Amino acid sequence: MNKKTIRDVDWNGKRALVRVDFNVPLNDALEVTDDTRIRAALPTIQYLLDHGASVVLMSHLGRPKKKVVDTLRMTPVAKRLQELLDRPVKTIGTTVGDAAEQAAQALQPGDVLLLENTRFDPREEANDETMSRQLAELGDVYVNDAFGAAHRAHASTEGVARFMPAVAGLLLERELAVLGAALDNPERPFVTIIGGAKISDKIGVIENLLGKVDALLIGGGMANTFLLAQNKGVGDSLVEADSVAEARRLLDQAQGRGVDLVLPSDVVVADAFSAEANTQIVSVDDVPDGWRILDIGPETRQTFAQVIGGAKTVIWNGPMGVFELEPFAAGTRAVAKALADSSATTIIGGGDSVAAIEQMGLADKMSHISTGGGASLELLEGKVLPGVAALNPR
Ligand code: ADP
Ligand code: MG
Repeated sequence: MNKKTIRDVDWNGKRALVRVDFNVPLNDALEVTDDTRIRAALPTIQYLLDHGASVVLMSHLGRPKKKVVDTLRMTPVAKRLQELLDRPVKTIGTTVGDAAEQAAQALQPGDVLLLENTRFDPREEANDETMSRQLAELGDVYVNDAFGAAHRAHASTEGVARFMPAVAGLLLERELAVLGAALDNPERPFVTIIGGAKISDKIGVIENLLGKVDALLIGGGMANTFLLAQNKGVGDSLVEADSVAEARRLLDQAQGRGVDLVLPSDVVVADAFSAEANTQIVSVDDVPDGWRILDIGPETRQTFAQVIGGAKTVIWNGPMGVFELEPFAAGTRAVAKALADSSATTIIGGGDSVAAIEQMGLADKMSHISTGGGASLELLEGKVLPGVAALNPR
């Protein structure tokens, strides 16, 4: 990576202002129900503490819509972090300003302070310079370790980096390294599997990947629009009529570039969007009127598994069907299993795909599970993340 990281800084006696992604789910009792993202930030926090720094942490949590929302305060996160770090984590009710500055000033090496939810301040998402300058008062060096928010140009992810030295944390570095290596210099065959609801979300991704991969497997709702582009009937399936021309263009592009773009050959159709619906397995040439495609069929699962089995690098983004409903989870499960059985470098991005893998208990069988759905999608699109661009060059 061509950016400085925390390993390039002498931390002795310095205050690190660290943007982390502590946007974790809470239950009604305001307890953290999944601490994956907190754990993911621990190596950076521990590194800073071990090297003589004090640490000022900041994150957004949920969608407070530019005002203080008591149920979205950072206190439950601090509680969990304190348990994981096995040392006190101070919280204050504010993000910036006098109280925050005093609390930051008072820190001794080894101390940890967690600022209040950055999105309580309307200036955060507006990337307002006055907030960025106030944040910069709270530390000596800025560290961005919030990969999951690095595609946003907000005050705490981008603006603040203009007003103080700015380096990458270890999680951010690793996410960029893994995805970067796969995209720029993959061991071949390089296969990607793209699914999910909508093609319009991922046209940029498909376009960019067509220039890099050996095979592209497409499932999920977005495959329907491709099938339509091939003049197949898709009944009442989710389609994006606006994107049919785009789908046709991508099919032509794949052919022109010699990329093996594989669409489903058979599908699971249902007569309603429901776990209780009647279902049948049909060829993509025979989707009955009034029925909708909700998963890839058994023949397609086998084809996809075979292509994945022959790959050396695999990136997967987006489920193959409506996996939240058991009758339509088999396609997603088959792909997850093929990845788990493969010896290739396997990388999973996308919130719902990651949820599916975790639900199936296969997370530890993957080489890398990205902590950032939106950010990893933008990397797959070939975009530069604003939160990364703002860091100091090496
Ligand atoms: P990710 O978060 O992994 O990037 P997306 O958000 O793009 O994935 O898409 C996930 C959603 O797509 C899931 O909620 C799933 O139910 C839906 N989906 C998948 N296949 C279909 C389909 N055939 N019809 C309708 N929705 C689908
Ligand atoms: Mg999603």
